[in-house]
Amino acid sequence: MKFCVLTIFPEMFDAFSGYGIMRRAIESGSICLDPVNIRDYAEGRHKVTDDRPYGGGSGMVMKPEPLAAAIQAAKSKMPDSPCVLLTPQGRRFDQEIARQYSDLNGMIFVCGRYEGVDERLCQAYIDDEISIGDYVLTGGELAAMVIMDAVIRHIPGVLGAEDAAEFDSFSGNRLEHAHYTRPRVFEQKAVPEVLLSGNHGAVEAWRKESALLRTALKRPDLLEKTGLTEAEKKIVKNWCRYLESLASD
Ligand code: SAM
Repeated sequence: MKFCVLTIFPEMFDAFSGYGIMRRAIESGSICLDPVNIRDYAEGRHKVTDDRPYGGGSGMVMKPEPLAAAIQAAKSKMPDSPCVLLTPQGRRFDQEIARQYSDLNGMIFVCGRYEGVDERLCQAYIDDEISIGDYVLTGGELAAMVIMDAVIRHIPGVLGAEDAAEFDSFSGNRLEHAHYTRPRVFEQKAVPEVLLSGNHGAVEAWRKESALLRTALKRPDLLEKTGLTEAEKKIVKNWCRYLESLASD
């Protein structure tokens, strides 16, 4: 999958591409990351990419011409890749959008700065507008990194089989189960006995229950989205019986 990122700060992506799973994915050829400096498409000696807003007011607006030229150049190399604007006004990014994006051959990101991008550029060139949350960043670069990081986890071969994204939180609207590692006892708290049992069926059942409990406690809205499976209903009924036994005289 190829990511082309249009930005006035391409150097910001050096660290992002230099570590961990992203670095390995680039080295193995699963991912290609191409940060493009929008200034390279600006005219004149000063390569200006922003200008004052019509109507007055504070702040600057990203000029449409350099962005249009940068997008056209990217599209000529990646004609079937959508052009995605990072903006707090876009649809909210989530795991399902990450999964859908991972099916694409490529994506072109437009990172805004200042007060944002000229509206005419958005109307003519942008296929999708994405926000990473209801807060305002100073630029779209971090948002682009967040999205790419989440997307590559869904690309076959990027994660080891054991880390497959299908087991991550939000798959099937559940959070992932609790994790433990050595030591067996940490500050007087022991690892749940079942995880040491070597009984794969029992471990699997414990993990399903742990995932359900964490989802119910931390993100009950996820349970409401899909409702409970038959197996989960049984677990919840057991919890109810247990709580009733505590409440009875
Ligand atoms: N004036 C704009 C507004 O209120 O809608 C905010 C502009 S913001 C300071 C500058 C740039 O940061 C935006 O053009 C966008 O590219 C990026 N950005 C800010 N918050 C974002 C968010 N929550 N998600 C994605 N991109 C964001």
